[in-house]
Amino acid sequence: MNVRDSEAVAALLEAAGHVRAAGEADAELVIVNSCTVREMAERKAVGKCGNLIAAKEGRGRQTIALKVRIVGLMGCAVKRLGADIFKVLPHLDFAVGPRRFGLIPHLVERCLAGERRLLELPDDDEVPSGLDAHPDIARGGTSAVFQSYVTILLGCDNRCSYCIVPDVRGHEYSRPAREVVAEVRALAAHGVKEVCLLGQSVLRYGLRNKAWTDADAPSPGGYTEPFPRLLEALSGIDGLQRIRFTSAHPKGCTDELVRAYREFPKVCRHLHLPVQSGSDRILAEMGRHYTRAEYLAAVRKLREFDPEFAVTTDVIVGYPGETAADFEETRTLMDESGFDNAFIFKYSPRPGTRSAALADDVPTAEKERRDQVLLDDQERRGQCRNERLVGTVREVLAEGPSIRNAARWSGRDSGNRIVVFEPPPGLAVGARVQVEITEAHPQTLVGKVKELKS
Ligand code: SAM
Ligand code: SF4
Repeated sequence: MNVRDSEAVAALLEAAGHVRAAGEADAELVIVNSCTVREMAERKAVGKCGNLIAAKEGRGRQTIALKVRIVGLMGCAVKRLGADIFKVLPHLDFAVGPRRFGLIPHLVERCLAGERRLLELPDDDEVPSGLDAHPDIARGGTSAVFQSYVTILLGCDNRCSYCIVPDVRGHEYSRPAREVVAEVRALAAHGVKEVCLLGQSVLRYGLRNKAWTDADAPSPGGYTEPFPRLLEALSGIDGLQRIRFTSAHPKGCTDELVRAYREFPKVCRHLHLPVQSGSDRILAEMGRHYTRAEYLAAVRKLREFDPEFAVTTDVIVGYPGETAADFEETRTLMDESGFDNAFIFKYSPRPGTRSAALADDVPTAEKERRDQVLLDDQERRGQCRNERLVGTVREVLAEGPSIRNAARWSGRDSGNRIVVFEPPPGLAVGARVQVEITEAHPQTLVGKVKELKS
């Protein structure tokens, strides 16, 4: 989400006449986009701003940010800290919370005119401007990237006990479907092949506020739920090849969603379905509104439809009161779910959340041990799951030279699995290739190109 918000700000600044710097050393304006989901993330963002301000004032031993004149902070940490941000960073030029980044070009103008310490804090129900700004489209050229993020749902009303997101990103708001469809159509017209729809609980699209109005055309396939209906509308866009979305809640895994996966080949067969814990007791304390059995039923439903369907997850280890038995439940749930990938987070108490009132009683060393156990389990599981794909042919969208070996290219299959291959002559970024898998690793597949499609 922050990557997407940063891109939108870049587009808005370009539209206001600013020019993208080649890198940090060359930049006169630097804006740090912050996350406050875990304490460490916030500390890093605030620390980075401090270093930039020191560089601007010629203090410290900074070898970067040689030309910086204006330093701004945006994102969730601003909303959490409010005016206190200027106690921590007295020489910060501006701070702007989520949902107000559309004001950044204006704030930069004001700083250029000599104003300082500007603060913009959004209300919980604010509807932002600039959500549909994309750098390449703003320039009017063909997109340099083949994949774009598109925000469809803002904020969150779930209030999981550990999570600060509802406090800092405001109430859930679904963008009107017409707006989303117009944005994706414009991206596809500029050469974007894949979109990833973003929301904290993306399957809740259109449930709190109506995303479709009476003036919109009815669903040709008779879909009644707003999110599958959106998938239907986006599937019809010429030039667009793939639709992804993240993150999801098991309650949204409805029969209509599975029907949409079946009927719309552009919809990728991957779902990021954060589980957080495998213990019913901890899930109830977290306020996740599902049980272990309900979660497993959602995974089963997706895999019954397609055994290769990729399911990935987020897990928190060391939640207050998490016993060895609770942790074991998480391990077994992860095995039963056969996750294709998993992101493991060590519990971090966040001010103002319900769980912050509980003792953070799992020692750091034990959190680290549990983290490592789950990572090791996932390494083995990833290897096993990927080995099943050896000999199959996957359709891959080529992304460019692989990070580890520039002689090879990499791309992703529909399940978001990274596939590495020797590039055939004339291969372009965004081209579709059929790759026969010859080798499996825990996080990647290796294969041979059978056919270059476009
Ligand atoms: N909306 C998504 C959902 O409901 O699962 C997740 C959004 S959250 C920004 C991303 C991930 O950060 C969560 O899935 C959770 O695993 C992790 N997270 C959130 N709060 C956390 C905390 N206080 N400590 C550790 N991890 C946390
Ligand atoms: Fe946080 Fe829960 Fe909302 Fe996800 S659903 S953003 S974890 S409150």
